[in-house]
Amino acid sequence: MLITKSKFVAGVQCLKRLYLTVHTPELAAQPDESDQSIIDQGREVGLLARQMFPGGVVVECKDREQAIRMTRELIENPEIPAIFEGAFEHRGVFVRVDVLHRRPDHRWRLIEVKSTTDVKDHHVDDVATQHRVVTRSGFDVASSCLAHVSRDYVYEGGPIDASRFFRIRNLTRQVERLQPELTVQLRSEFRVLAMPEAPNIPAGRQCSDPFTCEFFDHCNPPIPDDHILRLPRIHAATVAKLVALGIQSIHDIPENYPLTQRLRRACASVQMGKPWYGAELKGELKGLRYPFYFADFETINPCIPRFPGMRPYDQLPFQWSVHLQRQPGAAPEHSEFLATDESDPRLPFISALCDALGDRGSIVVYHQQFESLRLSDLASWLPEFSGRINKIQRRLWDLLPVVRNHVYHPAFGGSYSLKSVLPALVPEMTYEGMEVADGQAAGLAWESLIGGACSEAERQRKRAALLDYCAQDTLAMVRIVDALS
Ligand code: SF4
Repeated sequence: MLITKSKFVAGVQCLKRLYLTVHTPELAAQPDESDQSIIDQGREVGLLARQMFPGGVVVECKDREQAIRMTRELIENPEIPAIFEGAFEHRGVFVRVDVLHRRPDHRWRLIEVKSTTDVKDHHVDDVATQHRVVTRSGFDVASSCLAHVSRDYVYEGGPIDASRFFRIRNLTRQVERLQPELTVQLRSEFRVLAMPEAPNIPAGRQCSDPFTCEFFDHCNPPIPDDHILRLPRIHAATVAKLVALGIQSIHDIPENYPLTQRLRRACASVQMGKPWYGAELKGELKGLRYPFYFADFETINPCIPRFPGMRPYDQLPFQWSVHLQRQPGAAPEHSEFLATDESDPRLPFISALCDALGDRGSIVVYHQQFESLRLSDLASWLPEFSGRINKIQRRLWDLLPVVRNHVYHPAFGGSYSLKSVLPALVPEMTYEGMEVADGQAAGLAWESLIGGACSEAERQRKRAALLDYCAQDTLAMVRIVDALS
């Protein structure tokens, strides 16, 4: 039985995950479009890292034995300054190393490349496994490092400067200290893999930490609508105490059981089967000033920045929708913006938005922090708009805390997201069946819209789906404010 680097890390998260990965992989959820885009991004970042080691040679072959042989040949050739995807095996553990860099003294620097912006615990496990296999295969590793993306890097246009885009962290001491633990872990992993059945490990926090496990649906059956986990922001300790008392349904929570005010309100609303509206809701809504603008932005946050002034993972806005309600009872008027090619969308985005939002009246958003931060980003990239942006930020009015603090509906199911709140308060509107129905899907649809890889008919379909989705978000806020009023 062979353990690869990824299987080893799966086993560190959960031994059952390792077992299922090897013995019943068909139970795993298939990667969706979003998973694939993360994989593609990781690949792009890996290729970029190679630019730091000119003259490096890639071990292309997929066959394990051949790859190991080719790696040895490259190591023996002193003319080769770096090896990418070098293959090594020791006592049933097989690894491929992103970068092996030959130092002037002919010792090696091992580098694992990650597209994250810092070092996570599981990265150290990952590097430690590679360090173990390469050193125990007889090679002289002087240091073992992790190259991660630096959030301090600011793109200036032209080719990305890989040496500034990455930060290389030396983890040698940590990975050496980890070796005894690794020995124990590997023993457990080989033992579990040889078992006739998967280990009996109950679902828990490990199912989504540090990653959502691909067997999540297999091990975590759907929870009923009245389950205590469907109370808003319920703390794990509260859940544990209730479960210990044999209480799993919200309906079984006693009236005098100590809960926070928010949980108690939600609990009472579910038990009575009717919505709760706080006495201060009316006063909150009085804070709104006509004309009402309802605004929403869509963004992507690419790891590799695309336009000057951007850092890795900065949010790039590409679409907005605004519904304007001039006076009570007036029909909402709609305006929108969607970038449809690969050029920099920031200037046309903010220029059209400033015009659409006028200079007075409340601007209703759902989760103000997001829109406000995007506006601040735009002000720093395009300082000529900073005065107008500043005035827009002062007019923002956040609907989310108003709902969260003054409303609960049994159909919220513990969530205050627009997707849960809208159909509960405005039953004739829903996101179900929409081709684009959340921000992540919007980002993916936009990437393929501008990427040029789809047919014209497909582009038109994606464009229409994006416009429908963003317009739905702002019309949803119009209707929710109407309903609450
Ligand atoms: S879902 Fe949870 S319990 Fe099941 S294999 Fe994954 S991590 Fe383990």
